[in-house]
Amino acid sequence: MKHLFLSISLCFFASMLNAQEDIITNSIKIKLPASVLDKVSNTKEIEIPIVNKPTINTNIKDEFWDTTVYNPYKSVNVEFPLKLNFSDSNYASPIPRKKVITSRYGWRRGRPHKGIDIDLITGDSVVAILDGIVRFARYSSGHGNTVVVRHYNGLETTYAHLSHIEVKANDTIAKGQYIGKGGNTGNSRGSHLHLVASYMGEYIHPDYLFDFSESNAIRAREIWVTKKWTRPVYHSSRKLSNLTICETEEEALASLIKQRKVYIVRQGDTLSRISKRNNTSIASICNTNKISRTSTLKIGQKLVIEL
Ligand SMILES: [Zn+2]
Repeated sequence: MKHLFLSISLCFFASMLNAQEDIITNSIKIKLPASVLDKVSNTKEIEIPIVNKPTINTNIKDEFWDTTVYNPYKSVNVEFPLKLNFSDSNYASPIPRKKVITSRYGWRRGRPHKGIDIDLITGDSVVAILDGIVRFARYSSGHGNTVVVRHYNGLETTYAHLSHIEVKANDTIAKGQYIGKGGNTGNSRGSHLHLVASYMGEYIHPDYLFDFSESNAIRAREIWVTKKWTRPVYHSSRKLSNLTICETEEEALASLIKQRKVYIVRQGDTLSRISKRNNTSIASICNTNKISRTSTLKIGQKLVIEL
């Protein structure tokens, strides 16, 4: 009878532990009554190891879980640098073919482009790149047929311009699971997948998190995102910005200290050419040097460039 009581208690403890995935200790020690134990073994204490999963948040539906609005985070003020943890080292390719990037995150034709465009053929299967829960699955102006998946680290990925949506809001999704078909719906010029990475409504340059080569690698287990990687104006949609991934808070804070250099205007230079050559924006050059976009540049003129 006492044995039965003991095993029931242990089962109860084990189920309690399963429910609490955010426990930080590595094990839990349970002292057992000597009268019971003498008959079972010589040990007076048992130790149950706990698998620590600090990056998994099982309550991702607790906050801002609105399945009717694309961006329910209008009131949120995200603090930077922002830490993102990944429990995987690879993501699943969203399309079943070689990824051809037709446009990156950044400034494009005078407007911000807040995702990455991956070429596809209408009807291609599109899959979720990581585990998560579908937060939004419906038509949205601009994005067309859209699926938003919230992942367990709080990151959301958006799959836009789909020709068909296979999933519905609140569906639990595994990495690599089919969510719909690629297409050309909404404000789109030709079939492609517009893939967005965002956290609490802040758009993140997807290349900063994911390597879009065939490796399908996530760039680090712990990634610190600075504001620079959330502002399209600092990037060009036509070429990939220089990437230095911050893997610690110290690196992220150090990267915030702006570096300056002096650029001497050459023959044939325009603000556009100078900004592209120096991987910065026209707005930044104008602001730093107190000039306007229409200012005439003189050969030999010195411009301060903030990197
Ligand atoms: Zn796009």
